[in-house]
Amino acid sequence: MGTSDKDGHIIVNSRYLNNGDRIDIYLDVIHELVHVKQFMEGKELFDSRYDYVERPTEIEAYRYAVEEARNLGLDDERICDYLKTEWMSSDDLKRLAKKLGVKCNTS
Ligand SMILES: [Zn+2]
Repeated sequence: MGTSDKDGHIIVNSRYLNNGDRIDIYLDVIHELVHVKQFMEGKELFDSRYDYVERPTEIEAYRYAVEEARNLGLDDERICDYLKTEWMSSDDLKRLAKKLGVKCNTS
């Protein structure tokens, strides 16, 4: 799932929407809606001066998603699972989790 920095639309892979975990999809929607809001405020969504896991727009979007995950009663392990993506290194995951105050047991 992603947000276009051209027109602020949310882009979703239909296979993910049909087969993905419902909680993951829900949290992704929250994450992307934060980007839509940022886009409408004129913020630069993909500021390449920052690494993905350090980018202020990403941290803000993840903060809202993690807050909602906690409201749903998810524990740190499950939230960590959500944060983990196939293209993120375990070091990046650690940095992101630390910024968000989520405890990840990565080895
Ligand atoms: Zn994002």
